[in-house]
Amino acid sequence: MTTNWTIDGVKEALAAKKTSARELAADFYKRIESRNPELNAYLTLSPERARRQTDKVDSLVAQGKPLPPLAGVPVAVKDVISTRGIKTTCGSKILENYFPPYDATAVERLEAAGAVILGKTNCDEFAMGSSNENSAYGPVKNPLAPDRVPGGSSGGSATVVAARLAVASLGTDTGGSIRQPGSFCGVPAMMGSYGRVSRYGLIAFASSLDRIGPLASNVKDVAAILQVIAGRDPHDSTSTTAPVPDYKAELEKPVKGLRLGIPKEYFGEGMDAGVRKKIETGIGLFKKLGCQLVDIRMPHTDYAIATYYIIATAEASSNLARYDGVRYGLRVDDDSLLAMYRKTRGAGFGAEVKRRIVLGTYVLSAGYYDAYYLKGQKVRSLIAQDFRDAFTKVDAILTPTSPVPPFKLGERTADPLQMYLADIYTVTGSLAGVPGISVPCGKIDGKLPVGLQIFGAPFGEARVLQLAHAFEQAEGAAV
Ligand code: GLN
Repeated sequence: MTTNWTIDGVKEALAAKKTSARELAADFYKRIESRNPELNAYLTLSPERARRQTDKVDSLVAQGKPLPPLAGVPVAVKDVISTRGIKTTCGSKILENYFPPYDATAVERLEAAGAVILGKTNCDEFAMGSSNENSAYGPVKNPLAPDRVPGGSSGGSATVVAARLAVASLGTDTGGSIRQPGSFCGVPAMMGSYGRVSRYGLIAFASSLDRIGPLASNVKDVAAILQVIAGRDPHDSTSTTAPVPDYKAELEKPVKGLRLGIPKEYFGEGMDAGVRKKIETGIGLFKKLGCQLVDIRMPHTDYAIATYYIIATAEASSNLARYDGVRYGLRVDDDSLLAMYRKTRGAGFGAEVKRRIVLGTYVLSAGYYDAYYLKGQKVRSLIAQDFRDAFTKVDAILTPTSPVPPFKLGERTADPLQMYLADIYTVTGSLAGVPGISVPCGKIDGKLPVGLQIFGAPFGEARVLQLAHAFEQAEGAAV
């Protein structure tokens, strides 16, 4: 059987009775069994739940009933997203034995659309990281270059798609965690606007930044997954009531004449020469498609990393206060309550999570709140203003997703600042709340994938997908 499944491919094969949902899932589990020990991309498999779902789909097929949009499509879910009765660790020891009592809305919607959840994917602890090396359950290996990282924090979600161990997956993005691993593993990966997809059931890292989004082997499938998970959810007051357009219908619209901004600030020092070359070629491809390239300025870009690491750590320090050994997960007993808290958190959290709790507590503390947190919020609105200004002149913005190709395992772990700098091109869009996608843009020396990032105006997902799809078609034709 083929391994290169797409959503349409699954649908056709089921309708033509070339395979059943059950057979297809079994086939994926076989591949997972053979490849996962080396890749470490799945943390937990959920074959029983998958079986219940495939039975439902197969009975629809047997009865000749119409199939829902993701019928029988094997998918994977990042382990920071709640799945009822299925272990959800957030890549942390503190939630080693946590079984959520409810499903995230995104998960519920995937299953309602017929998708089959194969299991939960590895990630940096509480989604804090850019390489998946901060997982308490070991790093994930890049399936295209096993000595390299797959990116992070959704490293497992990108890896399972690239290695064909799922047709699509859900990741989460707070500062780049969907887009950067998508770029490192050579798969399209999308973050919708803040509020586009419900966060209900997403275990919080930084609530004003966290978003759930899809990764898949092609842009059309990314659009199909987003279609299903997007839209208002009464359980998340920050989810928007803005209607969800028909993304697939928008995909094929011509991109000729669209104005694309190239911000000078994203092409400065620190960018790998190989990445630069691929991105320049990619941008040239848009020109060939008839788009108009416009030089733009986004003057506050330089402050984005500092601003992000103030706001994200502040929110993390508050969100992670709930892991106190009383209500969830790990508890290390002691006679005094305070010692119990200390021992539980000391044993349960890894080094990076502790670093962020300390940083976040500091920037929120009396005397420093105004100088750091409040200042950070002000700079955040200047960065959002950069985007608003840009979108008065252009329809979308093109940048590299990451300044560097996938780096070697262990290469950046000793220097947290180096690791933080990996997010330099992605955190801006996170702070501004705009949608962004990373699309594959060739490979350096035919080996290391490069991702091109397309930012859209708030709730302009359709435009972002349309451009990404046109690019993917042109890129495929050019190779
Ligand atoms: N790499 C960034 C961080 O470590 C982004 C993480 C994310 O988007 N979840 O915070």
